Amino acid sequence: MTTQPPLDLIAAVLEELAGDAQRLYDGSVGPEQKEERTFWRCQKNAFNKALHYFSLGVRLTSTPSGGYTVPSASDAGATIHRCWKVGGVWCCSCDAHSFHWHTALIAGYEVAFERQYLAEAEASAEAIVRIEDVELPFVPTPDEREYERALITADVEEWY
Ligand SMILES: [Zn+2]
Repeated sequence: MTTQPPLDLIAAVLEELAGDAQRLYDGSVGPEQKEERTFWRCQKNAFNKALHYFSLGVRLTSTPSGGYTVPSASDAGATIHRCWKVGGVWCCSCDAHSFHWHTALIAGYEVAFERQYLAEAEASAEAIVRIEDVELPFVPTPDEREYERALITADVEEWY
């Protein structure tokens, strides 16, 4: 089981995702890239907001079905947003119809969880390699066995 990623990892992931979206937004300059520019503007704003509110202490809470609740940043305590996944896409109970900071926050948690999982898997793989490094009792390889057989044959031939 993967342990909860540390808070600084979640913050770093959110910042990285915001930075990636910013670079892609900045790179979408041609008139034919109008839709991409709009898409990346939405992404960078969502990740920036998610990072901001996460830094202020906003946290996800898991729901029994595998979704999350997110407290409202503007109306904390009074409004709670609930997010659930449909066909791999996060939906939210708030009025936002596109990707926004609630779902961006979830995306940040998911990437942080994935990195935490990979780091733990890598650590256990290293542990396995360390066990394999332990010196095993000597077992001759087939080539060595053949070499010994040849020596024995040579000795036997010398006897006659
Ligand atoms: Zn929402």
